[in-house]
Amino acid sequence: MPPLPDHDAILVGSGIMSATLAALLRGVAPDLTLRVVEAGPGLARESSDGWHNAGTGHAGICELSYTPARSADGTIDVSRAVRIGQRFAHSLQFWGHAVASAAIPADFIHAVPHATFVTGADDVAFLRDRREALVGHPFFAPLQFSADPARIERLAPLVMEGRAAGPVAASWMDAGTEVDYGRLARHLLGWLARQPGTVIETGRRVRSVRRCGSGWELTIGHGDGTVERTTARFVFLGAGGGTLPLVQSAGIAAARGYAGFPIGGQWLVSDRADLAARHPLKVYGGTPPSAPSLGGPHLDLRRLDGRPALLFGPFASWTTRFLRFEGRLTDLPRSLRPSTIGTLVRTGVGNLGLVRYLVGQGLQRMADRLAALREFYPLARAEDWRLVEAGIRVQTLKPVDRGRITYGTEVLTDPGNSLAALLGASPGASVSVDVALEIVKRCFADRLADPATRRRLDDLIPTHAADLTRPAEARASTAVVAARAAALGLPAPW
Ligand SMILES: Cc1cc2nc3c(=O)[nH]c(=O)nc-3n(C[C@H](O)[C@H](O)[C@H](O)COP(=O)(O)OP(=O)(O)OC[C@H]3O[C@@H](n4cnc5c(N)ncnc54)[C@H](O)[C@@H]3O)c2cc1C
Repeated sequence: MPPLPDHDAILVGSGIMSATLAALLRGVAPDLTLRVVEAGPGLARESSDGWHNAGTGHAGICELSYTPARSADGTIDVSRAVRIGQRFAHSLQFWGHAVASAAIPADFIHAVPHATFVTGADDVAFLRDRREALVGHPFFAPLQFSADPARIERLAPLVMEGRAAGPVAASWMDAGTEVDYGRLARHLLGWLARQPGTVIETGRRVRSVRRCGSGWELTIGHGDGTVERTTARFVFLGAGGGTLPLVQSAGIAAARGYAGFPIGGQWLVSDRADLAARHPLKVYGGTPPSAPSLGGPHLDLRRLDGRPALLFGPFASWTTRFLRFEGRLTDLPRSLRPSTIGTLVRTGVGNLGLVRYLVGQGLQRMADRLAALREFYPLARAEDWRLVEAGIRVQTLKPVDRGRITYGTEVLTDPGNSLAALLGASPGASVSVDVALEIVKRCFADRLADPATRRRLDDLIPTHAADLTRPAEARASTAVVAARAAALGLPAPW
């Protein structure tokens, strides 16, 4: 008989993805032994940290990249926005349950209107059509639209003051959210640390993952220089930018030929509370066609560290690191394999627009960034803004796409579903609950066959088996989602 693994599950990384999966697993299967190992000295300090992402609770309301025009007839395809709306509804339910059961406080989330702002006759017409296409689904029924400059100025004064005359339009919904994903991850891990059978550790860098019987052996470097070998029945690689090298070391077939390309992020931040008080919302602009993964620029109210601030961006920066603090300059070259160099080159050649965009972004000076800000906020003054480093996104490139870049989060598993790895970062943290749900359903299917386990999952995410992309099912779920939102101090989302 082979020896039993040391742990039922090891989760690598302490960002929002591992924290959420660990909390969901603990909720559905209280008997599992769980270990979360983090390389850094603190929890959730990379992309999930509050300042390292925009904190948007992506629900499909304001991001134009989720509602492209169909090339055939110019009509607007809202299916991606609706799917993201459903995925975010899962997040609200899980977080609402965590707060209602007093596992965590609700201080990580705030209600904030989400708006889209455009200029020029074509974009005004697009935004009007987009709203018409969206309001048929209950998620977006409250979406408002105006092309009246005076009305938009009441909604977002900073965006309109000092603006040259010309066509403008905005669409918006009050029930948007701002989320401090780092705080949420630390709350979930804090709760987990108090539960029996769970260990949360920092200063533990997973160096390699190798098949061992039906489970996995992990080699873990400790902060004091010692090295440990341990085994687990199930492994989750939730290491953010650090996932690609680990999934390469695990050698699972599903990851063969995957390449990763890091794109750093930066924000302009203003700490002036009086400006923040005059911009109580998130306003997204059009997406540059060459940079859909970065999304359009946006001007956001943020309430991190208990103080209101304004954040504008993202700007892209060059880096070869896969992680801001825990990464090394050699991350990109070390990730290259003969099979992945081809993927990278094909992608570069097939996406020259994106390459040019990244080169241009990397060469930007502060004056260029301020010029971009003034397209959004015409009266912005240089002295009110400082540059802040955001997280790093490792854009995953697949050999099968033949140079086409696809954006999104992707869960890769081995054939036995004993290892799951999360690649990609869009829509990112907003859909962490849905990602965790997918992994539990795929990798713990045997557990879910047990009625008691299933009941616990139904309690945590009541609509997990419903198809809320269908308007009738969304309508039928309104009350349950609204109750969970209320536990978070939020208005009913639709
Ligand atoms: C500029 C920018 C803006 C964004 N805006 C939004 C937004 O508005 N809304 C949204 O929903 N999402 C947004 N995202 C995406 C979101 O931040 C990420 O999807 C999410 O934080 C990823 O969480 P994670 O847990 O996978 O990774 P991370 O938060 O990066 O955590 C990974 C952890 O793993 C650890 N680790 C790495 N390697 C190892 C190892 N070998 N051993 C042990 N530990 C390891 C790291 O130290 C780190 O703590 C944004 C991202 C960026 C970069």
